[in-house]
Amino acid sequence: MSSAKLPYSSLRDKKRLIFEGSLDLAQNVDFFLDKIASHKHLNAFIAVSSDCQNQANLIQEKIKNGNAGKLAGAVIAIKDVLSIKNINLTCASKILGDFIPLYTATAVQKLIDEDAIIIGKTNCDEFAMGSSNENSAFGSVLNPLNTEFVPGGSSGGSAAAVAAGLCDVSLGTDTGGSIRQPAAFCGIYGLKPTYSAVSRYGLTAFASSFDSIGPFATNLQDLFDVFDIIKGEDKKDSTSTSNTPVSNEINTKKIKIGIPADIISNDIQPEIRESFENFVLKLEKNGVEIVKISLPNFKYAIAAYYVLTTAEASSNLSRFDGARYGFRSKEVENLSDMFVKSRSEGFGAEVKRRIMLGTYVLSSGYYDAYYTKAQKIRRLIQQDFMNCFKEVDFILTPTTPTTAFKIGEKTENPVEMYLSDIFTTPQNLAGLPALSFPTGADQNNLPIGLQLTSNHFEESKIHNFLNSLTI
Ligand code: GLN
Repeated sequence: MSSAKLPYSSLRDKKRLIFEGSLDLAQNVDFFLDKIASHKHLNAFIAVSSDCQNQANLIQEKIKNGNAGKLAGAVIAIKDVLSIKNINLTCASKILGDFIPLYTATAVQKLIDEDAIIIGKTNCDEFAMGSSNENSAFGSVLNPLNTEFVPGGSSGGSAAAVAAGLCDVSLGTDTGGSIRQPAAFCGIYGLKPTYSAVSRYGLTAFASSFDSIGPFATNLQDLFDVFDIIKGEDKKDSTSTSNTPVSNEINTKKIKIGIPADIISNDIQPEIRESFENFVLKLEKNGVEIVKISLPNFKYAIAAYYVLTTAEASSNLSRFDGARYGFRSKEVENLSDMFVKSRSEGFGAEVKRRIMLGTYVLSSGYYDAYYTKAQKIRRLIQQDFMNCFKEVDFILTPTTPTTAFKIGEKTENPVEMYLSDIFTTPQNLAGLPALSFPTGADQNNLPIGLQLTSNHFEESKIHNFLNSLTI
């Protein structure tokens, strides 16, 4: 299996080939391991599993015996903010050092229980904070389509790994766009589920009321085959729910899609706008009704997002103090010096910026001016969405205002970097599901992604709708 092309187009197809005896799973795993090695320059992986050949042999047997799980043979990479028992968890940070977790994240355990093979841990922005994967203590990830460009962030390693064919599918996390934006930059599919649809147990918290775990894939079927496994209530996460019904067949002629006209007229790269308009034409040809909608508070989303997520992060990250996890500064004079030096040396610049910002907005003199105000905006944005969903089934926007940018292009200007999340943060503020799908490429051949947002727990309605488009 040395050819670069895989003999299957989906996970279901793969399972069938293994069952028929025309695909050897151990060889398939070897193929991925070789490919990861030959694509080391992408820096997509922080660690590669040493046990996946054993797993492959066991699962091959199970498939032949007819008792294999639903994801048997799927080779999956996991963002390194998700915990796997006995495997170093880094969160792409120096501060975790050689920390070895004692338990496996529920989402990952569910994949393992269905006989998926975990091939490794992927690189990301430190503690999932970033839009370009340039904030990792393990170095930047490169975009496989053009290595001078970023793959997007923070789940850049997971997106690059799927786009470069280094695994079948991968898991990422999305607090304000970290699945959808890298999916768009790398030309693949990415799903940010409804908040609470997937258990966060074993996910290192960035902003607990925003974080969602979701899949990356090269096709819709794989994306949802993985989502269907990882979703569901979990006793270990009291915020998780089981409320994700499977929707019925869609009649496109009855579907209404909302377009927030005022937002689309903002500074969007012309090729993205063109792609967006072409897709709208396609929808109309399919009989979909296009409705102009208004999301008046959308413009405050980035500001509210960065107040609320930094506030939550400053609290969540206080546990990394040099005492409880891997890294501790060497030369310290006393206990408080140990805390200060361990945190100063262990965290990277972006994480420190956010801890300081979050501490500031939560401080007694500023709490009402920033934190309370941002919570009010969060509610208004939720209401804007709910008003729209009284009228339409989905909302369509670009995923990002630009295609992938060059490595180093935005690192000097954090605010400009934050603005690349303009279309993706509102859904996290409202807890809504959204899916990024590829629609074309710009002049430099860099992919363009569009985003469909639905009401809570309507992931499968998005799936069925995209599948039902015929023209
Ligand atoms: N880019 C956004 C940020 O830096 C989103 C990150 C995320 O979704 N994890 O906060």
